[in-house]
Amino acid sequence: MSPACPPKRAARRWTAIAVLLSIATLTAQRPDPVRIQVADGIFLFRTAPYGEVGLDGNSIAIIGSDGVLVFDTNGTPSAAAAVLAQIRTLTSQPVRYIVNSHWHWDHWYGTEVYTKAFPDVKVIAHEKTKMMMAGPAIEFNKPGLEQQLPAYLTQLNQRIAKAESATPSPANLPQLKQALADGRFFLEQKNSVHHTLPTQTYADKLTLKLGDREIQVLHRDRAITPGDSFLYLPKEKIIIAGDLLINPVTFALSSYPTGWIKTLEYIDSLDASIIEDERIPEDARVRLFRLRPDSLVAVQAYLDQLQAEWRDQLGSFKRHVEAKNP
Ligand SMILES: [Zn+2]
Repeated sequence: MSPACPPKRAARRWTAIAVLLSIATLTAQRPDPVRIQVADGIFLFRTAPYGEVGLDGNSIAIIGSDGVLVFDTNGTPSAAAAVLAQIRTLTSQPVRYIVNSHWHWDHWYGTEVYTKAFPDVKVIAHEKTKMMMAGPAIEFNKPGLEQQLPAYLTQLNQRIAKAESATPSPANLPQLKQALADGRFFLEQKNSVHHTLPTQTYADKLTLKLGDREIQVLHRDRAITPGDSFLYLPKEKIIIAGDLLINPVTFALSSYPTGWIKTLEYIDSLDASIIEDERIPEDARVRLFRLRPDSLVAVQAYLDQLQAEWRDQLGSFKRHVEAKNP
């Protein structure tokens, strides 16, 4: 997803004291990730949002006979630890590969959990994604961590103090306290991250083997970011698209529509099963699916429209400049 996450209400409960405790303890207090089996040995994990301040990326585990590949490692060490705990209940095989789909924080900030647990794990990303992770991604997140999020928490604290001194106390006081606890947890987690960069990069295509499984790591063109990766399992006919496709509507902030359309056209050309699978809920956060033509068409139409609008705006801007500078 985009770093500018839309706010979402949290459904969990825990106290601000938890912020001071260890990751392991905190993990225990967050709801378990929701596990969705999308094919034999392939699982999608959805983790809870961070209160009002952040949505987490999905993580996908592909289990082979001699190891596991994890596609995207969540936005915090806590979330990644919770996903890894579930993977361990599914297999005793080690995680051999991590693939980070792109540089947005919610897809790679949990990688350290895997490298600590599996020192030999290969962390793979597109070469441009590694470049983004090594500098621009960290800079991008700084204003939020150093100013915006602390300011939001201070403001929330003040609202709570005011609400607590009111008689009768307002009905939304518990929600405000929950939002504060969630926000503090999120800030603590993101500040604690050890940024773990890919150990292996590629340019166009990388083919991996997990026992009998063949997993192609693919990049077609710049799309959401300069170096988006997606997975294709030719035998299973499954595409794991990351943020390239979000059902039903994709995020399109600071992206590259022309390359994105080319990428989607390429995805469309791959031999993937077209199966409506009701085990995967119709949810805006579900991004792993057996290719859904309606979703693909909708995203392409949206990007086409964006391009047309930008062309119009560029045209009127040019006319404006020419009129001022005849
Ligand atoms: Zn993203």
